[in-house]
Amino acid sequence: AAKADGRACFRFYNEEMNARSVEHLKLEEDLREAMRTNQLELRYQPQVETLTGAVVSLEALVRWKHPERGMISPADFIPVAESTGQIIELGEWVLKEVARHCVYWDSIGLASFRVCVNISPLQFNQPDLLHYVKGFLSRSGLDPQRLELELTESAIMTDGESNILKLSQLKSLGLDLAVDDFGTGYSSLSYLRRFPINTLKIDQSFVADMNSADGAAIVDAIIALAKTLNMRSIAEGIETEEQLAYLAERGVDLMQGFYFARPLYPEDVPNAIRQDYSETIARVRKSKE
Ligand code: C2E
Ligand code: MG
Ligand code: MG
Ligand code: MG
Repeated sequence: AAKADGRACFRFYNEEMNARSVEHLKLEEDLREAMRTNQLELRYQPQVETLTGAVVSLEALVRWKHPERGMISPADFIPVAESTGQIIELGEWVLKEVARHCVYWDSIGLASFRVCVNISPLQFNQPDLLHYVKGFLSRSGLDPQRLELELTESAIMTDGESNILKLSQLKSLGLDLAVDDFGTGYSSLSYLRRFPINTLKIDQSFVADMNSADGAAIVDAIIALAKTLNMRSIAEGIETEEQLAYLAERGVDLMQGFYFARPLYPEDVPNAIRQDYSETIARVRKSKE
């Protein structure tokens, strides 16, 4: 009986594996089609400056409107695109789309703001990334000062020495660099000090965990670290007044999360840019004193 069970178990496992790779193949095929037929869209989530309450930047976030399955989350298709290499084409599409939207926002006289774009590890590791970004900036005419590239901690910290050069070269194009999901990787502090990084993005898991003593201590430490290294700190995933009040009190530079705004359609960006959250921030801080 044990033998039969073992076999049944093995077969079940096999079928499950198979189903998973069929699913993967289907997604890969559909994604190719999606890029050809404009099923991808961008949303923009506001980032609020704690001191002024102004929306000074937005993060571009990709969405996939699948014709049969509806909206697919990037958490589901970005890893597939990363493993098939399609993330390279996807990443180029995102940058072009951001440039196109910026041209439009300029044309209606909107005050300039920074746009943050996620760069995947595979994209970052392309040997011609620098060349590509340089070409992109000159072809699109996008002011590099409007662009911040978000890199993950794990992508830049492995192979630290050679990445310091790579990041410096990117930065010399005039754009800003951020470390996304900071605190979840394995940053060596001695490396971090030498990295030409403008912004540390505190991972939302720490913001969600601020009720615990450890969670709060980690957030405090990252904000202090950013100050020491002359970097900006930004907290993502702010959903509650308690989180806002705590982070503002601790002097985080920027705040991003559903409490302020969800990722927005590009047509809603002009309104978002004109928002002034200074009274909201003052009121919430006062109520939590
Ligand atoms: P991320 O770069 O860390 O982006 C932040 C994620 O947190 C976004 O999820 C955003 O919608 C979500 N978020 C923002 N505020 C809140 C909040 O208050 N509460 C909660 N629960 N979530 C919040 P999204 O848009 O689903 O993207 C997930 C991840 O997919 C991103 O994480 C990023 O790693 C990746 N991604 C998204 N767009 C792109 C892209 O254009 N290129 C690449 N390479 N990756 C992307
Ligand atoms: Mg990000
Ligand atoms: Mg993040
Ligand atoms: Mg994240």
